[in-house]
Amino acid sequence: MSTPPIPRRPSIGVKVGKVQIGGGAPVVVQSMTNTATEDVDGTVRQVRELAQAGSEIVRLTVNTEAAAAAVPKIREELDRRGCDVPLVGDFHFNGHRLLAKHPACGEALAKFRINPGNVGRGSKRDPQFAQMIEFALRFDKPVRIGVNWGSLDQAVLARLLDENARSANPRDLDEVMRDAVVTSALESAAKAEELGLPPEKIVISCKMSGVQELIAVYQDLARRCNYALHLGLTEAGIGTKGIVASTAALAVLLQQGIGDTIRISLTPEPGASRAKEVIVAQEILQTMGLRAFTPMVIACPGCGRTTSDYFQRLAQQIQDYLRRKMPEWRDRYPGVEDMHVAVMGCVVNGPGESKNANIGISLPGTGESPVAPVYEDGQKTVTLKGDRIAEEFQALVERYVET
Ligand code: SF4
Repeated sequence: MSTPPIPRRPSIGVKVGKVQIGGGAPVVVQSMTNTATEDVDGTVRQVRELAQAGSEIVRLTVNTEAAAAAVPKIREELDRRGCDVPLVGDFHFNGHRLLAKHPACGEALAKFRINPGNVGRGSKRDPQFAQMIEFALRFDKPVRIGVNWGSLDQAVLARLLDENARSANPRDLDEVMRDAVVTSALESAAKAEELGLPPEKIVISCKMSGVQELIAVYQDLARRCNYALHLGLTEAGIGTKGIVASTAALAVLLQQGIGDTIRISLTPEPGASRAKEVIVAQEILQTMGLRAFTPMVIACPGCGRTTSDYFQRLAQQIQDYLRRKMPEWRDRYPGVEDMHVAVMGCVVNGPGESKNANIGISLPGTGESPVAPVYEDGQKTVTLKGDRIAEEFQALVERYVET
C-alpha cells in the first residue's frame, strides 16, 4: 500500500561539506561523539562507528586547546581511512579564542555550532558571537545557531518577561519562555546575517527537554523563518524513555513537514554502542516513510502459538545481518534499502505478510508441521525444514538481493 508523500516546509538549503541540509534535501541523520576530542584515536574510532551506522554528519565538542589541536588530526586520519563524513565543531564560551589560535581546526570542520546563551550576540559586553561569525566567514563554513533551553540567553528572557509584565494583556509565563527560546535563535540569526553570513550558511535549532514544549517551539520557529531546522529533543533520557520521547516529539513535527536534520540524544546505557542513536533516527525516518536506509524487517509479536523464541531470534538475526551488509550493498544494489523482509511466527498471519513482503518466511507455530514456507515476490518458492532454517533463510535473502 502506498501513501502520499508528506509535504515538507520549504527551507533554505545549507551545504555542510558534501551533505545538504534543507532546501528540499532528504532529512539528514546526524549524531555526536562522547569521547574526549583530544583523544584522537578514540574519537576517530567513534566517528567511524557512527558513520558506518549511517550518521551523515558527526559533531564533536571543541572545548579546549587540546581538542582544537586534535580536530585536524582527526580529519586527516578519517580521510586516510576513507571516511569523509563531515565534522561539526560544538563551540561554547571559548570558541573564538580556540579558532584564533588553531585556524587548522576551523579549516578541518564542515560547520560550527554556537550557542547564543553561552556566546552572546555581538554586544560590546559580549563580542564573541561576532567573532565566531567572522571565523565562519573567513573559513567559509556554515553555522548552526543552537539554542538550548538549559542555557537560554538570559538577556532575551529578561527583556521578554519585562515586556510581558508591562503589557495590558500579559501572556502565560510558559508561553513567554518558549517565545524567548525562539526569539534568541532568530535575533542571533538576524545578527549573523547583519555581520555578513548569508542565510544559506545558517541552520537553527531550539532544543527543549519536554515533548510538548519542543513541538510548540518548532511550530513557532517554522512559522517565523525559513532557515533550515535541526530537530532534537535534548536530554531525552535513558533507554526506552529516551527513544519514546524523541520519537513522539519528532514524529509530530516531521509529519507536519518540519525538520531538515535530526539528532536523537540518548543517554547511552553502560557499554552500549553510541551508534544506537543513529539507528533510532534512521528508524524514525524509515517507519514514517520519509527515507529508507536498511531493508525493513516485518516481524509479528509472537503469542501462545509460538512456544520458543526461535522466530524472534531469526528476525533479530536477519535484521542484524541486513544492517551489517548495507554499507557494501548500498552502492552495489541501488534500491535495496526499500526492500521488506517478513519473519512471521505462524501460519495465521505469516503467509499474508510474507506474500506482501519482497521475501518472507512463515515459521511453524505450536502444533503445526515443522515446515516453513518461503515467499518471494508473493509466490511460495520453497519450504524449509529441519534445524538449519535460519541459515537457509539468510542465504535466500542474500540470493534475493543479489539477483
Ligand atoms: Fe501469533 Fe501467529 Fe499472529 Fe505471530 S502470526 S502473533 S505467532 S498468531
